[in-house]
Amino acid sequence: MTQSFYESVLQRIDATAERVKLNQGVHNILRQPERELTVAIPVVMDDGDIKVFTGYRVQHSSVRGPCKGGIRYHPDTNLDEVRALATLMTLKCAVANVPYGGAKGGVRCDPSKLSKTELQRLTKRYTAMILPIIGPRHDIPAPDVNTNAETMGWVMDAVSMYEGQTVLDIVTGKPIDLGGSVGRREATGRGVMLNTMEILKRLKKNPKDTKIAIQGFGNVGSVAAELLEKQGCRIVAVSDVSGGLYSPDGIDVKKLIDFVYGSQKRRLLQNYDGYEKINNEELLELDVDVLIPAALENQITSDNVDKIKAEIIVEGANGPVTKNADDVLAEKGITIVPDILANSGGVIVSYFEWVQSIQSFFWDIDEVNKNLKKILIKSFNEVWEIKEKEKVTMRDAAFMLSIRKIAKAIELRGIFP
Ligand code: NAD
Repeated sequence: MTQSFYESVLQRIDATAERVKLNQGVHNILRQPERELTVAIPVVMDDGDIKVFTGYRVQHSSVRGPCKGGIRYHPDTNLDEVRALATLMTLKCAVANVPYGGAKGGVRCDPSKLSKTELQRLTKRYTAMILPIIGPRHDIPAPDVNTNAETMGWVMDAVSMYEGQTVLDIVTGKPIDLGGSVGRREATGRGVMLNTMEILKRLKKNPKDTKIAIQGFGNVGSVAAELLEKQGCRIVAVSDVSGGLYSPDGIDVKKLIDFVYGSQKRRLLQNYDGYEKINNEELLELDVDVLIPAALENQITSDNVDKIKAEIIVEGANGPVTKNADDVLAEKGITIVPDILANSGGVIVSYFEWVQSIQSFFWDIDEVNKNLKKILIKSFNEVWEIKEKEKVTMRDAAFMLSIRKIAKAIELRGIFP
């Protein structure tokens, strides 16, 4: 059976604790989220029926600053997943050195079966239910799978109605017309592109000779595909929940983005004519230079790890490789740029958006992208240095870097009371 997502994360924390000789008490703190909330969300559906959904908000750590993390809408979302994602957020914020702890939220629902008005009511009621624990200085949500700028606008409105004033700094990833930051929508995909270019440079590979397959054509995958194509790489395959498209000569990413996003409702890739159709398993097993899983967790597991042929994996998604599969890939010498580094572009620009919201002073796109690159490259270099010095994988190095920083913060603050 595939390891649970949270189990994988805990095993990585345990292995790192041993490696950095972490104090046992601090290790115990990291193994348990600070606070978890499960809520019931009644929603009046368009036909007048009432449906009750289950939602979660988990705050893993606030030791380095307010908790930060996205909200996911998915039929399989559960507490184990949200815990794992919240824990990874703590580590990711520490790697990037943004002054946040980690959190995550989720609602168990199938958004493709809900109308826009139902989604709006669901979002506002969920926000009301988690309101006791979120806030601009406590916990700041953002978009994740199946949520977007529009969803964040609804969260912002719900909180603002309670407060009796507009509260811009309660969420990031808002619409630009509502105080969102330019460059936030593209930030995670841009960060994936920057990390990919950096690893190609380190491994002395020419982007022009690089074939890439990307699983997931949402916010992260589609932007990463577009920006990597602009860098000269050849995107040979992409996929979404409906399946994938493959073209050894390269896919025209812009055309596909227009197809998927060019109408009111997102279109599925399986309905695109023009490239060979493959399924998601086949995409993961393609003989490419770089594989970018950018959909969901637990995609590369003990079941398919032996079939992976890519030389480099850049984790756009959170937790796409289980711990067991990770060990096999490390053994095979496959380089993995880990999620807590590879997809940190989103939280970095979320931090910029929060700062802009607090100051009510807005940056231009050059400022955003310049600062994003500066922070990302610095984090990449720090991780690389530890990897070289300690002779570990990039994931081990990123975990060591972040856990040392979090342990230091715990030590400096002291345990209350
Ligand atoms: P999204 O909802 O915009 O897109 C998800 C994509 O994955 C869609 O194309 C969907 O069809 C596809 N998908 C879903 N199930 C799939 C499956 N079983 N096989 C193949 N494709 C599947 O979500 P997103 O924001 O792009 O997030 C993708 C991943 O990146 C998640 O793991 C998320 O946690 C992570 N992430 C997102 C951000 C962000 O800023 N949005 C930041 C950091 C990490």
